[in-house]
Amino acid sequence: MPETDSPLDVTTTASATGAPPSAPSTVAEPHPRQSAFGFDVGTRLKNADGSPSLGRTGTIRTPHGDIRTPAFIAVGTKATVKAVLPEAVSDLGAQAVLANAYHLYLQPGAEILDAAGGLGAFMNWPGPTFTDSGGFQVMSLGSGFKKVIDMQGSTAAGGDDQVAPGKERLANVDEDGVWFKSHLNGDRHRFSPEISMGVQHQIGADIMFAFDELTTLHNSRGYQVESLERTRRWAERCIIEHFRLTDEREPKPYQALFGVIQGAQYEDLRRKACRDLGDMPFDGFGIGGALEKENLGTIVGWCSEELPEDKPRHLLGISEPDDIFTAIENGADTFDCVSPTRVARNSAFYTANGRFNLSGRRYRADFTPLQDGCSCYTCTHYTRAYIHHLFKAKELVSHTLISIHNEYFVVSLVDRAREAIENGTFADLKASTLAAYYAGAPDPQGL
Ligand SMILES: [Zn+2]
Repeated sequence: MPETDSPLDVTTTASATGAPPSAPSTVAEPHPRQSAFGFDVGTRLKNADGSPSLGRTGTIRTPHGDIRTPAFIAVGTKATVKAVLPEAVSDLGAQAVLANAYHLYLQPGAEILDAAGGLGAFMNWPGPTFTDSGGFQVMSLGSGFKKVIDMQGSTAAGGDDQVAPGKERLANVDEDGVWFKSHLNGDRHRFSPEISMGVQHQIGADIMFAFDELTTLHNSRGYQVESLERTRRWAERCIIEHFRLTDEREPKPYQALFGVIQGAQYEDLRRKACRDLGDMPFDGFGIGGALEKENLGTIVGWCSEELPEDKPRHLLGISEPDDIFTAIENGADTFDCVSPTRVARNSAFYTANGRFNLSGRRYRADFTPLQDGCSCYTCTHYTRAYIHHLFKAKELVSHTLISIHNEYFVVSLVDRAREAIENGTFADLKASTLAAYYAGAPDPQGL
């Protein structure tokens, strides 16, 4: 292990208007076991004039199988994709599942998953798995500001009057980590880079994320600068602890670690974060934090321009069709989002013509599938009328059937985008898909 700065012997000196502090001089060397994970770039997307764009296809190689990218990763927060059995998750085409370290740490406890042989064995999912670091939940659920941390701008409803810029972060985050309260019972817990790494190693997913500090769009620039430096220092500590645990836990399968790029809406901060973390021996990168929908492509593009070309990029938390195309063409390889199953439990379903809500009376005797021509299990076996009935009767299987369709809708959309990059038809697919999807008038209840 190379020498490194003491992770605690660092002071934050950024001012509200100052430039970002300079990068560190010491970075850990790569670990030999990282060769168990890999990413191969496939076909590059081209712009209309034939020049290469940032988008690409690829293959992520993990100890539990490959992920062909771009890919939508199904979210299984508590080691289950809500209301959907793993066999159905596989049948609908999902290649990997992302669980949440914060939730599994609190319940049932990461040591239980370790004893079970890891997340995949515990939940009967044989394919690749991800865990996020817990940072998002620690700083949203755990700090009691659940509604604060959204990806909407300052004009979004319900958001920002609750925020005293900087205050809630400073109240919970210190240089070494974060104190937070369990959303289950109010118990006080501590997360730090080392604790997050320990928890994620015990959970045992193929791909983990470094512990980062999440800011919102409402934090001042000065706080963003300060926070970004802290996230960089935490990234170094995560790598050091990750490599130590990789040695200690051998011969368990190698778990890859992705650094998380923060920096909110600031180009210089995003690019700096990419350069700083890009120099560290991460296996890939997550693009996290505050992203306004209208800036999504721009910010992902900045990151893709700066990050190492031969490492995968995961975008946290998108599932709307326009966002998916924007993310892909700007170089995101994988994404995740809870929306397909979350909206399903409110009886909202995706179609090629927009999102609608099955609770309306007009569906009582509608004996067509959720989407004409859809190949998913739900649409090849059940009608809108039947699922409408189940939902009205509060029968739980309505959640299952709509969730299967919604996950299939998003997974297969991304699959088609991947094929379109390979075939040179991405621009056509994007234009026709978005024209149809946004031409309709989605039922507001579906949101
Ligand atoms: Zn379907």
